[in-house]
Amino acid sequence: MKFSQIPGHKETIEKLIRSVSMERVSHAQLFSGPEGCGSLALALSYASYISCENRKENDSCGVCKSCIKYDKLIHPDFHFVFPVAKTKKDSEPISNSFIKEWREFVSQSPFFTINNWLDYIEVGNAQGLIFVSEAAEILKVLSLKTYESDIKIMIIWLPEKMHISTANKLLKIIEEPPDKTLFLLVSDEPDKIIPTILSRCQHIKIPGFKDNEITDYLVDRYQCDSSKAAEIAGIANGNILRAIDLFQNQESSRENLDCFKNLMRYAWKRDVLSIIKWSEEVTAKGREAQKSFISYSLRILRENLMLSLGQKKNKLVYMGHDESTFSEKFHPFITPGNVYSLSDEFNLAYSHIEANGNARIIFLDLALKVVRLIR
Ligand SMILES: [Zn+2]
Repeated sequence: MKFSQIPGHKETIEKLIRSVSMERVSHAQLFSGPEGCGSLALALSYASYISCENRKENDSCGVCKSCIKYDKLIHPDFHFVFPVAKTKKDSEPISNSFIKEWREFVSQSPFFTINNWLDYIEVGNAQGLIFVSEAAEILKVLSLKTYESDIKIMIIWLPEKMHISTANKLLKIIEEPPDKTLFLLVSDEPDKIIPTILSRCQHIKIPGFKDNEITDYLVDRYQCDSSKAAEIAGIANGNILRAIDLFQNQESSRENLDCFKNLMRYAWKRDVLSIIKWSEEVTAKGREAQKSFISYSLRILRENLMLSLGQKKNKLVYMGHDESTFSEKFHPFITPGNVYSLSDEFNLAYSHIEANGNARIIFLDLALKVVRLIR
């Protein structure tokens, strides 16, 4: 992809371009930043730029043979390592076993989480890992000559998911890579990478997106109404994944807010009949909608606590218009005295739903706990 497809990060992009024009491309670089900061998109565009046959001053050309193959992630000198999960057939798969799915998935959008990826390859609740078997594959791939480019580039997405012995086997090659080889590590949690790998990389720290960058992105890419886009950007707090999710789930946000309001209202009034009816209604929703409601409630609780603590002026409150209106009156009910117990109950309900518990019992139980805690 091209730098121009990234909705922001002008300064980081300038720095990356300068490293190329000054021929100071470090052979092992770690891109990291908060969730939804677009670190993988930056690494992909940087790789395309380095390999482009007709580089422009501020971007790759997008049309040369290299750009076209980089874009489709099929360039023979462009390699990927990423977390995968064991399957029935293979207890220790390597990234290449999933390369077809990876290409399809990344082509849809370069902004995603590991859970999005694992959902895409339908591995259920299995953990995503870079297995020990990957080390031998990496060493093999990098021992080959380049096919079409002057340089081999390997992107390692989420090196923190590497098995410790994989990491140990790669130390030497990351420190002294074969000629014309570039490692781009892309991490969400760099503090979980083993220090011996970390110390061998040049660190590129990526900030979250700016609010106006997210606003423009939602307007351009999704034709979102601009005031709605600005409202979402305010809640997303620099996380583009969260912004996309909020945009795509506006309808469920409205439903979740109504559902939350009702629960709180009935709980305050100790209206047991309505509470039973409420729990029946939530039970009738699907499991994903139930989980979405609980996650939503946890966020609203947190934001209301912030309001109660007077943090609005410090801009620590991230809410949409309808949520703010509701919370103006509601927030005094959420205090440091009850918020932890409330959150514990919602979290407990979440884990019971995930474990396929009986939704009717779980939500009635949750609602009755709220009755006790809200007063
Ligand atoms: Zn090009």
